[in-house]
Amino acid sequence: MNNESQNINKNTVTKPEVLHRKLNGNTEWKSYFSSLCGCSVFSVVKFKITFFILFLLISFSSFSQQQRFPKPEFETGYTQPTPTTPEPRALAWEYIDVSVLVLVMSLAAWFALKRRSRKGLLWLSVFSLVYFGFIREGCVCSIGSIQNIALTLFDPAYAISIPIILFFVMPLIFTLFFGRVFCASACPLGVIQDLVIIKPVSLPVWLRKSLGLIPYIYLGLAVLLAATGSEFIICRYDPFVGIFRMGAEFTMIILGIAFLLLGMFVARPYCRFLCPYGVLLGWMSKFSAKHLSITPAECIQCKLCENSCPFDAIDAPTETLKTDEKKLNKKRFSIFLLLIPVWIFLGGFAMSKAHSFLSKAHPDVYLAELLIQHPELKEDPDNIDIQTFLSSGKTMEHLVTEAKEIKQKYYTGSWILGSFLGLAIGILLMNQYVFRRRKDYTPNKVDCYSCGRCMDYCPVKPTPNPSREGNEPTPNPSEEGNKATPNLRQPEEGGPLQK
Ligand code: SF4
Ligand code: SF4
Repeated sequence: MNNESQNINKNTVTKPEVLHRKLNGNTEWKSYFSSLCGCSVFSVVKFKITFFILFLLISFSSFSQQQRFPKPEFETGYTQPTPTTPEPRALAWEYIDVSVLVLVMSLAAWFALKRRSRKGLLWLSVFSLVYFGFIREGCVCSIGSIQNIALTLFDPAYAISIPIILFFVMPLIFTLFFGRVFCASACPLGVIQDLVIIKPVSLPVWLRKSLGLIPYIYLGLAVLLAATGSEFIICRYDPFVGIFRMGAEFTMIILGIAFLLLGMFVARPYCRFLCPYGVLLGWMSKFSAKHLSITPAECIQCKLCENSCPFDAIDAPTETLKTDEKKLNKKRFSIFLLLIPVWIFLGGFAMSKAHSFLSKAHPDVYLAELLIQHPELKEDPDNIDIQTFLSSGKTMEHLVTEAKEIKQKYYTGSWILGSFLGLAIGILLMNQYVFRRRKDYTPNKVDCYSCGRCMDYCPVKPTPNPSREGNEPTPNPSEEGNKATPNLRQPEEGGPLQK
């Protein structure tokens, strides 16, 4: 064994207590904390101070902009409506945004897969937070673009610009090739949550799986409401856009702060339990051609990475099942497979019962029902919606007919949404009985945000490339007489191994 291996074995690997270190202890917590950027605690503090100063500067500039251009004051008591869709921007800016997005995702893929640099991913994510979050004010974003795509598919009169289509498609394409590098470093919503993780707790599997259904519901509702022209709920209830714009309804600012406070202990709560775009990214990532790996070479089963993921996205190795366990699994899998059509029907049926309630999200349906139930409101001069309708020259019959058509769309849409949710539940239940043989600790491709933290916990060094001059070929451990000698990193090389 060479000196380097002896050295690291003495310091990090051969001691059982080090091999089994968890994140719960004080030392490990500091170690985890330092892994936030793959450098020492001192550097982390410096980084946090820099980030905080930057945050203050941007906040100050945003507030001063608001003072230079105050909102017009009306003397009629008119309150300004909160816009739910973005104001139009110069097309050139939109193309610049797309170029920056593609550049950031390319660099993130390079840092995650090639350089294996947590530090690189971290600084890239800070750039994205500043650019896409504070400068571009969180719009246009890939998450919200789902609604533009849904509306344009169902309403030919709605025009969509090419940059918005690219914002929707490009992260999905990158994910299909490299995993969720968009979530790692390009999405401002993900990044702002990532930067506040302090002491993440591990959630029980049943809770994670149950809460994991919410993004499917949110995605379905967002598509339904957008496709019927009712509302863009993803934008309206984006918890961080108020922080990015330094101005929103008070409740939205509070919601954003609440998410960040929660995110200190439950890592990326919005990403894991709400983000509708995350559902699509998870599907793409499952089939990604390449994906970040924890170890750069062969896993030595040291378990150092076991608890390194704040998102519980590392799958542990599995034991081979016994024959009777296999049989039982197969039987249960078949039963749940056969039950999928039942789930689809039940989901569709249950949701269709809610179509009338959901359709009230459309302003025309809401207005028609309001006027049918309270015709006396026509005389109310302060009700702007009703007065606008009356002055438009539209008849009540016309409004009711329109509302009926919209309700019918909701009925069909609710069946589709419910069936989709039933399918998601059915697949989730069926998946409980799919056994996957795993030899090593691996990132779960669906849940992994490619943040790179776990890479810093692995003591194995990348295998030297034998094709390069001067590099000795690595002996094949499977050949007789060859003993697998782990190529270990030195503690000084960076990351939590320093501790
Ligand atoms: S899961 Fe959603 S919010 Fe989180 S980083 Fe990915 S796209 Fe952004
Ligand atoms: S790279 Fe993936 S598995 Fe590793 S810590 Fe980040 S999210 Fe978890």
